Order: sequence, then C-alpha cells, then structure tokens
Amino acid sequence: DPRIDGIKTKIRVVPDFPKKGIMFQDITTLLLDPKAFKDTIDLFVERYRDMNISVVAGIEARGFIFGSPIALAIGAKFVPLRKPKKLPGQIIFEEYELEYGSDRLEMHVEAVDSGDRALVVDDLIATGGTLCAAMNLLKRVGAEVIECACVIELPELKGRERLEGKPLYVLVEYR
Ligand code: IMP
Repeated sequence: DPRIDGIKTKIRVVPDFPKKGIMFQDITTLLLDPKAFKDTIDLFVERYRDMNISVVAGIEARGFIFGSPIALAIGAKFVPLRKPKKLPGQIIFEEYELEYGSDRLEMHVEAVDSGDRALVVDDLIATGGTLCAAMNLLKRVGAEVIECACVIELPELKGRERLEGKPLYVLVEYR
C-alpha cells in the first residue's frame, strides 16, 4: 500500500533515548502530519471494520492515541489498559517486563464481557511482553483476542513469538 511509505517517513528514530543504545521510535512526528496520521488510522479501520470487533483495548499511553479513533470508526467500545493506580473501579492486573525495566497493566473488570471480541492496540511491539500482558487481562475476563495491532514492529526482538499464535498486524517494521 503506497500509504505505508508516507507513514514510515514520518516516524522519527531517536538514538540513545531513553537510554544509551536504544533506538527510540518516536510516533509524535507522525501525529504532526494529519495525512499520515489519518492514513495510519484508515489502514487499521479498513482491516477491522468487518471483523466483528466489539472492544478495542488500548495500551497506555500511545495505544490510546491509535486505539480510540479505530474504536470510534468500527463501532466498538474502547477500554484503556492503564499503568498502576490510575483506574478508580475494580481492576485486575498483569505484570510484565519492558525493553527497559518492568511494569504492570491494569484493566477495569466490568469494562469487558465474556464473549467480547477484542483487538489490542499499541504503537510498537518490541519483546512482546506488553501485548502478552494485555492479552492475558482480556482472556481472564473471558474475552476472545482476535488480533493485536501495532504501528511498528522491531522484528529482531521476536516479540511475535510471545503472542502464542495470536495474529499480529503491523504497518511498519524497523530493523
Ligand atoms: P515490549 O513489551 O518489549 O514489546 O515493548 C513495547 C512497549 O514499550 C510499548 O508499549 C511501546 O510503547 C514501548 N516501547 C518500546 N520501545 C519503544 C520505542 O522505540 N518507541 C516507542 N515505544 C517503545
């Protein structure tokens, strides 16, 4: 798709952020270009509009940016998967390892029903630990994870292999 190249050129790569040796993929420059940002959302919407997705789960914080417009466009509810101590209702949580450090994701239990068909959205998959934790949250309340979607994949980190056969859809690979 010709739109992919336009998206790719708008993602800025910042060396040594937030730590030496990390090549940080910065999507804030993509957001500054309304055409490239819209193309990004459109590509996801074109893929998911006819897949009977009932819930889009977005991972804090950049998964919110991409997940919310996808949810609105396909007519699904949006559920934020949040960092600790942000959600006021009854929660469940999963701990996970990051490329740099460890963290946990929390979800409102009443937000997702058993039988919901879920799409998990984040900006980027590195080791896959974050998406794995997100999928576990959804499975624990009985939802079916249909697919994970990211703008960027770092394929050398083999995060895809941690998703236990669940499909992962990405727009851009960075090697
Ligand atoms: P993983 O759990 O190792 O797959 O790391 C993915 C998570 O870390 C996502 O929530 C990303 O937003 C974040 N992340 C890791 N590397 C980068 C990067 O280069 N740019 C932006 N986010 C990153």
